[in-house]
Amino acid sequence: MTAVVDRLNTGRTSFSVEFFPPRNEDEERLLWRAVREVEPLDPAFVSVTYGAGGSTRDRTIRTTGRIANETTLTPMAHLTAVNHSVAELRNVIGWYAASGVRNILAVRGDPPGDPNGEWVPHPQGLTYAEELVRLIRQLGDFCVGVAAFPHGHPRSADLEVDADHVARKIRAGADFAIAQLFLEPEHFLRLRDRLAKRGCEVPLLPGIMPITTPKVLAKFQELAGVPVPDRVSDQLLPLAEDRAAFRAAGIELTTALCERLISEGVPGLHFYTLNRSTATRQVVTQLGLAGIAVG
Ligand SMILES: Cc1cc2nc3c(=O)[nH]c(=O)nc-3n(C[C@H](O)[C@H](O)[C@H](O)COP(=O)(O)OP(=O)(O)OC[C@H]3O[C@@H](n4cnc5c(N)ncnc54)[C@H](O)[C@@H]3O)c2cc1C
Repeated sequence: MTAVVDRLNTGRTSFSVEFFPPRNEDEERLLWRAVREVEPLDPAFVSVTYGAGGSTRDRTIRTTGRIANETTLTPMAHLTAVNHSVAELRNVIGWYAASGVRNILAVRGDPPGDPNGEWVPHPQGLTYAEELVRLIRQLGDFCVGVAAFPHGHPRSADLEVDADHVARKIRAGADFAIAQLFLEPEHFLRLRDRLAKRGCEVPLLPGIMPITTPKVLAKFQELAGVPVPDRVSDQLLPLAEDRAAFRAAGIELTTALCERLISEGVPGLHFYTLNRSTATRQVVTQLGLAGIAVG
């Protein structure tokens, strides 16, 4: 099974995509259509997020296993410490390995019900993602990624303390990091500088979400945890009633952001697809990042 980090170290800018596990048959069909549509473009990897409940968790295991066994793609499964004892985490990691998944994004997760609430660890569980990185490393030959935050994690005291904590995860054994969403490249580049200052040289991938509708723009704000910059809302919000014009301007804005990041030497771009691939394919094709899948 290919390690994500090997796909990031080819010297050529790559792209990757993120999906969430489907909740019903309609979503399952939508997801698999998107998977099949990105497959010929040869993304470096495709990742599947990990939810808070039992059935969505089973679907992450099943979906990444199917990607490993039925496609030419390199899958990465997310894993969180939410409501899990260490014994349960070992079990899930074992299932990933058994279904051919060797790449794991180790994230702590948010308190269920209130993402901004106080984190209460499971009595036999873990407190920080750093511990999850160590656990995965102990259990086998996995390639491990972690999360990083251009605007700082909402619960971090400041950006420097926040970077210290990301550096700890990298020192604990993470092979690469993926950044939360942002719209101004400087926020990502400053995060990269803060990590470099701490001696962290692993690949750092920017998280990108093509802005196609006002709903997606609102989703950006929810995920990034910061307001949409005025520059972007001034450009997009006047087009809110004109779907085609909004989409065209949003794709142009996303492409320009990616071009800047490529010129700054990022190893790859990680796209949050919301399980639809059209906009991502459009952007990566415009950027010349779409490869040709072999095998
Ligand atoms: C790319 C990406 C993918 C994600 N995928 C998922 C997913 O699939 N499922 C999901 O539920 N959520 C996901 N998330 C959200 C993530 O779980 C939350 O943002 C969560 O609040 C933080 O996770 P973390 O791994 O960064 O936690 P941590 O690194 O554990 O950090 C949590 C907080 O604790 C602080 N901290 C860390 N270490 C220490 C320490 N040693 N001492 C004191 N404080 C410390 C940090 O600064 C931060 O404020 C994802 C986020 C990103 C960016």
